[in-house]
Amino acid sequence: MPVFSWFLPDGRLLISYRPAIHAARQGAIEDDVRALTRTCTAILEDEIRRRPEFWMWMHNRWRTRPPGTERAQPAGAGPPRRGARMSRPAIFMDRDGTICEEVGYVNHLSRCRLLPRSLEAIRGVNRLGYLAVVATNQSGVARGLFTEDLVRAVHDQLRGWVESGGGRLDALYYCPHHPREGAPPYRIECECRKPRPGMLVRAAREHDIDLSRSWMIGDSLVDLEAGAAAGARVVHVLTGYGIGLRDNQPERFHVQPAHTATDLLAAVRFIAAQEGRAAALEGA
Ligand SMILES: [Zn+2]
Repeated sequence: MPVFSWFLPDGRLLISYRPAIHAARQGAIEDDVRALTRTCTAILEDEIRRRPEFWMWMHNRWRTRPPGTERAQPAGAGPPRRGARMSRPAIFMDRDGTICEEVGYVNHLSRCRLLPRSLEAIRGVNRLGYLAVVATNQSGVARGLFTEDLVRAVHDQLRGWVESGGGRLDALYYCPHHPREGAPPYRIECECRKPRPGMLVRAAREHDIDLSRSWMIGDSLVDLEAGAAAGARVVHVLTGYGIGLRDNQPERFHVQPAHTATDLLAAVRFIAAQEGRAAALEGA
C-alpha cells in the first residue's frame, strides 16, 4: 500500500504513506478508507508545500497543484525550487536502442556501438540549446554481469565519440539497481530505475532543468513512462525495441508519445520543428 515513496540520493526516505499506514495498523482509522485517503492526502500536500519541486514528480497522478505551492521560496532555503531560475530545458536520451545499438547487456566496451545518425542528433540537441542528458537502466550491474566501472568506461567512450564528432553530452545518469535480482546494495526498489523518473528528477536538481520544457527520447516503454512521470514530453524512436513495440504490442503504450520518429535525429528534428527552429539544425 505505500503507493508513494521518494528517496533522496543518499538513501534517506523523503516521503511515503507510512505515517498513515502506521495509524491504520493501530486501529485508529480501521475500515475507514476515506479517512486514510484524507490523511495521506494531507501528508502529501504538506510535503509538496514544503518542497514544491516534488510536485513535478507527483503531478502526473496529482493533477491539481495543492494550494500554497506557487509561492516563491526564500533565497538560499534548501535545494533549488521549481521557478524562474530552473529555466534550462533538456533533451533526455535513452542509451541502448536510442543513441547506441540495442545488443542486450553491454558487458564489454566493444559491445557499445553508435547508431548511424546519433552524433548528428546530439550536435542538434546542443545547437537547439537543450542540455543533452543520457538516462540509462543498467541492471546488469545488479545482476552481477558487469561493474559500475564498466558502465563508466562505456560512458567515457561515448562522451569521447560525441566530442570527437563536435558535440557534447552534458550529463549521463545510469541506474545500476534491480528490485528482485542480485544482491545488496544493488538489489533494491530504487527510484531511479525507469519507468520511475528518479534520474530525470535528479538531473533537474543538479543542472537546473525545467522538466516541463524538456523532452525524453527513447525506444522502450519505460523511457516514455519515465519521461511522462517527470513532466516532460516524450518522443518514441523506432530503433532498438521501438519498431517491434509499435508493431506487436501497441496496447502496452500507456503513455502516448507526442511523436514517433525513425531514429534519434528524426526525433530531434521533430522537436526543433515544434519550436519553429528547424533551420537551427541545418549543417549540424
Ligand atoms: Zn536505480
